[in-house]
Amino acid sequence: MTDIARVSEVSRLYRARGGREAGGRFRAVDGVSFTIPAGETLGLVGESGSGKSTVGRVLIGMEKPDEGVVRFEGEDISRFSARRRKQFLRDVSMVFQDPFSALDPRWTIQRIIAEPLTITGDFTAQVRREKVLTALRHVGLGAEHLGRRPREFSGGQRQRIAIARALVSEPKLIVCDESVSALDVSTQAQVLGLLKELQDRLGVSYLFISHDLHVVRRVSERIAVMYLGRIVEEGPAKRLVDQPLHPYTAALVSAAPIPDPARARANRRIILSGVQPSVVDPPSGCMFRTRCPLAMDICSRERPAWRTVADGRRVACHLHGRDGAANGMLDVAAM
Ligand code: SF4
Ligand code: MG
Repeated sequence: MTDIARVSEVSRLYRARGGREAGGRFRAVDGVSFTIPAGETLGLVGESGSGKSTVGRVLIGMEKPDEGVVRFEGEDISRFSARRRKQFLRDVSMVFQDPFSALDPRWTIQRIIAEPLTITGDFTAQVRREKVLTALRHVGLGAEHLGRRPREFSGGQRQRIAIARALVSEPKLIVCDESVSALDVSTQAQVLGLLKELQDRLGVSYLFISHDLHVVRRVSERIAVMYLGRIVEEGPAKRLVDQPLHPYTAALVSAAPIPDPARARANRRIILSGVQPSVVDPPSGCMFRTRCPLAMDICSRERPAWRTVADGRRVACHLHGRDGAANGMLDVAAM
């Protein structure tokens, strides 16, 4: 399987009062690595403030990383030629939580969906209109909507229009940032179904960002869990949810139990103590240690290194270290 995107050791520093790095900066994203295979979905889950959106923006070139490399189709995006960069702007796009809040309510649907083409392309009005119609058709809407305004649509329809807008440049990779978070549960299910269907039909890849692990699980082949700017666990979606390796993942799984008696172990609710520390002034060693029910002495002293644990799973936690007790199994009952 070829990779559409590969992110290697990417960090992003922002300036803030109290930031510990040179120039009063702090690490909003710290040493993040992952790959997205072509035609697949990587879910990125974590609490707000964990750096997920920043990762999404860096991935599609909206922000430059301060450290590390982003590769798209094998090429470092910071070394793209002007021509390749222009094509890249069409190869990637984004669906936000509520894209209409950022758009002029007087714009027609035609203009909203066509906008990415006017920024990047040299298309005639005729070609633009055809592309807009194709994109609308992909999301199950017809030409009769073209002259209407956003306020005439329900939340679910607006999100379909937002997806059409993201599709109009025929991208290979779409970042979905909390794309269904504002929708009710049944509309959420419809939009998630549509995203999957589009993937099957068009072969598009997604980075699917959400604070909700159970939403992420429904669309993702693999999941990466972020905490305070770092990925702490990554692996195949089902295995990660059924048998989490990192105590933070276990807490996320337990926070919204799936009603299934056969999975009573994972359903045990784990209450995290304390609040999420500030990413501006994070704890030493393991950043999760101030809330971790299984924290040990070493956790405040040493940052846990990545361990690869069977079948494409990796975790950064001392429990899975050389001297750790867990080694591929996390005893949730002990939490
Ligand atoms: Fe908890 Fe220590 Fe693992 Fe961090 S390294 S998650 S504090 S056990
Ligand atoms: Mg965000």
